[in-house]
Amino acid sequence: MSIFISGIGVSKGIAIGNAFVLAREQFDATQITLPDSEINAEIQRFKEALAQANKQLHDIKQKIAKNTANDILVFIDTHLLMLEDPAFDEGTIANIKEYSCNAEWALQMQGDRLVQVFDEMEDPYLRTRKDDVLHVVKRIQSCLAGTAQDHDGHLYKGKIIVADDLTPADTIMMKHQKVAGFITEYGGPLSHTAILARNLGIPAIVGLHHARQLIHRDEVLVVDGLSGFVINSPDKKSLKYYRAVKRDESAKRDLLSDLSGKPAITLDNKQITLHGNIDRPSDIRIIKKYDDTGVGLYRTEMLFIQLNQWPDQKTHFNTYKRAVKALNGKPLTIRTMDLGADKEIQETIDHGPMAHNPAMGLRAIRRCLKEPQDFMPQLLAILRASAFGPVRLMIPMLTNIEELDQVLKLIEEAKQLLTKKNIAFDKKMPVGAMIEVPAAALAADAFAKKLDFLSIGTNDLIQYTLAIDRIDDEVNYLFNPLNPAVLKLIHMTIEAGKKANIPVSMCGEMASDTQYTRLLLGMGLEYFSVQANTLLEIKHIIINSTLKNLQAETKSILQIYDSHEIKSRVQQLVNLL
Ligand code: PEP
Ligand code: MG
Repeated sequence: MSIFISGIGVSKGIAIGNAFVLAREQFDATQITLPDSEINAEIQRFKEALAQANKQLHDIKQKIAKNTANDILVFIDTHLLMLEDPAFDEGTIANIKEYSCNAEWALQMQGDRLVQVFDEMEDPYLRTRKDDVLHVVKRIQSCLAGTAQDHDGHLYKGKIIVADDLTPADTIMMKHQKVAGFITEYGGPLSHTAILARNLGIPAIVGLHHARQLIHRDEVLVVDGLSGFVINSPDKKSLKYYRAVKRDESAKRDLLSDLSGKPAITLDNKQITLHGNIDRPSDIRIIKKYDDTGVGLYRTEMLFIQLNQWPDQKTHFNTYKRAVKALNGKPLTIRTMDLGADKEIQETIDHGPMAHNPAMGLRAIRRCLKEPQDFMPQLLAILRASAFGPVRLMIPMLTNIEELDQVLKLIEEAKQLLTKKNIAFDKKMPVGAMIEVPAAALAADAFAKKLDFLSIGTNDLIQYTLAIDRIDDEVNYLFNPLNPAVLKLIHMTIEAGKKANIPVSMCGEMASDTQYTRLLLGMGLEYFSVQANTLLEIKHIIINSTLKNLQAETKSILQIYDSHEIKSRVQQLVNLL
């Protein structure tokens, strides 16, 4: 019998495939005393599990190496180094002999011991390595339990992953294994994983509570990543219908692909800038798959998350230079680090002070200004990368002009340092700010006077204006880009840019949502930075719109306070030529 369940659709598209339910693995590592006659066989069993774990990691590395940035491969190398370290091997075997015990318990004891060693280290970075120890122990335990093959290799191919939650690293790994879709129990549409799934073009649903109880392994699922529903064990008729929808989707994609490389010009001749958002240089390949265009938002946090620490200048520089070169003359907008809230490194999760409200805490530019010595390498590297192509620097989460002045001062210091050392950079590199806090939107005039561009971050602007945690699915129903207060702040920002004669873009998710494109055009937005897989759809709307007509309609929409009425008027814009 077919069952309908629903969560929050966060990455559109239809996926059809068998469920792959990821259990939260709990291993039984209770102590079993073995007779002397079985000790050698137990040691042999442990060695085989170790070899199997080693082979799995080598296989994964080999499979993803061709298409994966080095900073992701580092994860796997660290685990391989640990697996090959005598501390694991010899320590566990010594335990088996000393306590005449089973390999699981001997390994668990050794793992606990190593975790304690890392825990007591002075260096906060080395302390975070204990998570790697835990992952490696888990991998060997799963080999000992004979369940390891469930998590590796090609087994994800064509499957729909059902998990409690996925880290960005899981999401990337699974993409390489060609998964069909994702369903998670937790998370909201603006969690980093949801954004990543959209970027990778994989249908995904989050916030589907109890998904792992409702869905069983290998059941056939239809996932609609737009509306957020799942059909579990669809009947023949539904399956036929959704296969046809999937075919239509791909036919539509082919049609849109004709727009690739063409300018985004409205029917009344206004050229609109249309760029893509990326998380890492390798994402530029995804943008190029759709269109040959620039980057309006490069979220650099991934670099921090993958390394699990603040990168040094060389790592920053090599990464940005790679991105500039891949763009081949098209602009690259690098946003300085925005760690905190839903994007965090293990170091602070484990050892930092617990913030009660991390979204309002020491996030993004606040954190950079608190640790200018850690921020400086990023500023220097962005400037240095600007010698290789058009680079723009963008500052996140500004709330007042004093913060902006401090950042501008640091940029000036970085420029002087490079000049003194005779290192090339673009002296006119544009510097802009994200307008993503109501305070900044209300003071956009003042920011615009000091900057070369503004970019509206609707994900946070909506969160802070409406007091809704963007990753809390319980209040997701309140997250409304069409709230009149949000629209007014967006409009004020666009107007401030026009007054100061500087470009204003939008790089938050609202810009990628086709139901808002015409409203934003009518509000005067001339620069969109969107998820790669929506580039051509948005272009299609732009080239079929007449700004003049939209402007008149939008003006009257901005006078309305009833959200339902706003929604219905925005929907009607679709019919306007
Ligand atoms: C935003 O807030 O809209 C934005 C683009 O930044 P992020 O989603 O990375 O916070
Ligand atoms: Mg933001």
